[in-house]
Amino acid sequence: MTPLERALSERIRSEGAITLEAYMDACNAYYYATRDPFGAAGDFVTSPEVSQMFGELIGAALADCWKRAGAPADAAYAELGPGRGTLAADALRVLRSSGFAGEARFVETSPILREAQARAVPNAEWHGAIGELPKQPLLLVANEFLDALPIRQFVGGIERRIVIAAGGLAFDRDGEIIETSPARDEAVEAIAAHLAEHGGVALLIDYGHERSAPGDTLQAVSRHRFASVLERPGEQDLTSHVDFEAVAAAARKGGATVTGLVGQGEWLEKLGIEARAQALSRANPDRLEELNAALARLCGADEMGKLFKVMAIHAPEWPQPAGFA
Ligand code: SAH
Repeated sequence: MTPLERALSERIRSEGAITLEAYMDACNAYYYATRDPFGAAGDFVTSPEVSQMFGELIGAALADCWKRAGAPADAAYAELGPGRGTLAADALRVLRSSGFAGEARFVETSPILREAQARAVPNAEWHGAIGELPKQPLLLVANEFLDALPIRQFVGGIERRIVIAAGGLAFDRDGEIIETSPARDEAVEAIAAHLAEHGGVALLIDYGHERSAPGDTLQAVSRHRFASVLERPGEQDLTSHVDFEAVAAAARKGGATVTGLVGQGEWLEKLGIEARAQALSRANPDRLEELNAALARLCGADEMGKLFKVMAIHAPEWPQPAGFA
């Protein structure tokens, strides 16, 4: 039994069945607070860990948008759940070379990951929640952040809860599942309200779907394999597919303008990933194979190119960032 499973079992014995939202919240807080889960030796690999090109193109897209907004000197780079800080370091290298001198602000709860982020971006500043970001224009990025926020599941209009069964933890009901994520809606609405009031743009990148639909999308990943969501709580990564229709609605509610949704592959191609790969391989011919593998991984329809999607939200008076229809 994992330490968190013991704690959750005690909680269920004393409080009764707990919601999936409470379970996911407890599991992910524990999971990210106790490890660096990224990379071949960890549990999963994210796009910025696949290749520097991912963060560099994001930096270029943000720099272009910032310049077209009049290059406001009081803008900051902000990232939600920056992981190892790799994306931020790659994006900021490009932003700095474009004349952007604003702060780097990270919203991160994990102490271990804050340390990794400090190594990647030494002068960054940390915040515990979106609402703690200072009142200034933001160039904000969230990659695989929204998928980690807790969801609720309903069967026949009744919320699904977790109980103790003979073999461990179990769901109290089965059937056609409807998912919602109040935590995700709140996060997106808070970003949108910040952008609408103080200016800026946010790139939201995650795996998910364009239209709300019934279905169970909760998944656990451990050592690069799918696992059972109720097993080894706190020791595996729990995520769900992002419902981008709900994200767009929350963003509009917060007062931001919302772009269309684009597949990650198409978006990176529009931003010029192939030219970037060619430039890198001309300068480092021995990296040709690695760069081609990264291109296939990030953009391939059968890899991260289609399932992962990108949506931008921005202050109504800011320009739409590049890469969207
Ligand atoms: N963006 C990174 C990491 C994605 S993993 C990358 O692409 O590699 C999810 C990240 O979100 C981790 O850094 C995790 O610690 C952070 N996180 C998860 N829930 C959070 C919360 N409620 N508040 C702040 N950060 C959170």
